[in-house]
Amino acid sequence: MDFDLVIVGGGLAGAALAVALRRSRLRIAVVEASPPMQSESWDQRVYAYSPASARFLDDLGAWRHIDPTRLQPVSEMRVFGDDGGVIRFSAYESGLPELAWIGESSRVHLELWEGLKRQHNVTLFCPARPRALEIRPTGVELRVEDGRTISAQLVVGADGRDSWVRAQAAIDSHVSPYGERAVVANFACSQPHRGVAHQWFRDDGILAWLPLPGDRMSMVWSAPDEVADALMGLDEAAFVARVEKAGCGVLGTLGLLTPRAAFSLRLMRVDTVVKERVALIGDAAHAIHPLSGHGINLGFQDAKVLAEVLCGLENWQDAGELAVLRRYARARAEEPFMLQYLTHGLNRLFGARNPLAAALRNAGMNLTGRLPVLNNALIRYAVNGRF
Ligand SMILES: Cc1cc2nc3c(=O)[nH]c(=O)nc-3n(C[C@H](O)[C@H](O)[C@H](O)COP(=O)(O)OP(=O)(O)OC[C@H]3O[C@@H](n4cnc5c(N)ncnc54)[C@H](O)[C@@H]3O)c2cc1C
Repeated sequence: MDFDLVIVGGGLAGAALAVALRRSRLRIAVVEASPPMQSESWDQRVYAYSPASARFLDDLGAWRHIDPTRLQPVSEMRVFGDDGGVIRFSAYESGLPELAWIGESSRVHLELWEGLKRQHNVTLFCPARPRALEIRPTGVELRVEDGRTISAQLVVGADGRDSWVRAQAAIDSHVSPYGERAVVANFACSQPHRGVAHQWFRDDGILAWLPLPGDRMSMVWSAPDEVADALMGLDEAAFVARVEKAGCGVLGTLGLLTPRAAFSLRLMRVDTVVKERVALIGDAAHAIHPLSGHGINLGFQDAKVLAEVLCGLENWQDAGELAVLRRYARARAEEPFMLQYLTHGLNRLFGARNPLAAALRNAGMNLTGRLPVLNNALIRYAVNGRF
């Protein structure tokens, strides 16, 4: 079967890329192992979507279809150091309607997927997995496990941090495990959160409480492996009590809404995000610590930029040519790199146990909180993905 472009991985990044190409002349194949599932209960995977991501998803026609009762705007963010340092970011004081949106991964994914199913230039191969990839100077040939063969000018790896496409294309990745896992769970709270997100840099990890619609919140506790093991091993009452205490009871008493889950964390960089006939987007191109809440926001920007490059092609141009793909690579060289190092640096700074490091990081936070220029620069970064 002949296509211009085959996307392996129809997760948030891959699906967003395919939808962003809806008005292009390109014939697109999407190969995805499992479709998104609709569930009435609250999804454990809850993300902070930047306003830039919300705008992109709105342009794709997905955002406006997400049930508004499942999206929570963030009006304020309070970040606490481990020794009295505090930074406060306020949407109101920055003249913004909101700092970010908190919502379930599956809701966004489903809306993108619905768009894909209706899209005239997309053929979905799902559930399906690729078996072999041949990259030739003139095109790629992807063999699917069920025996079908897909020919295309370009293969896009949107297949997550353990990307199969990346391995087939022999693109080297550099992985540094953090020795940490993110323990996630959703809670009902006895006190209203008023749209405030909280983050604590603690001795035993980085704890984030993200507000969810109604009196609910989503917790991400990025903790050293031994602490994560202990959290996962506690019985429900002890777990809830530990989370409540770690967050200083700011939302009153908590009740567990979803089972806990734990995700191992690592930093992953690649030597290049493009090769002749191959491009990587999303977590296949970069994995980042969740403390900044920017992983999928980076993935959406990858999808947006790659779609812009491909939509700008003349009819006679080949989508898989390296000269074309380099435009995408150049445009995406800076942002993921900067965010990876910023979050890695913060993680290391707050992981250091000596008293001098503790004094420095907390003094730095207080200074940042008092300097409007720095504070505004950080907000601009959080909101727009650039300073
Ligand atoms: C605890 C935690 C909290 C996070 N919080 C945030 C947040 O607040 N904000 C934020 O922006 N990011 C956050 N992230 C990051 C976010 O989860 C990832 O950046 C995002 O899921 C990456 O999307 P993706 O589409 O690139 O990859 P994935 O979500 O990994 O999707 C890859 C897709 O490819 C498919 N696939 C994989 N291999 C194959 C194959 N061989 N054949 C066919 N299909 C395949 C999979 O089924 C999947 O659908 C968080 C991450 C963690 C762990």
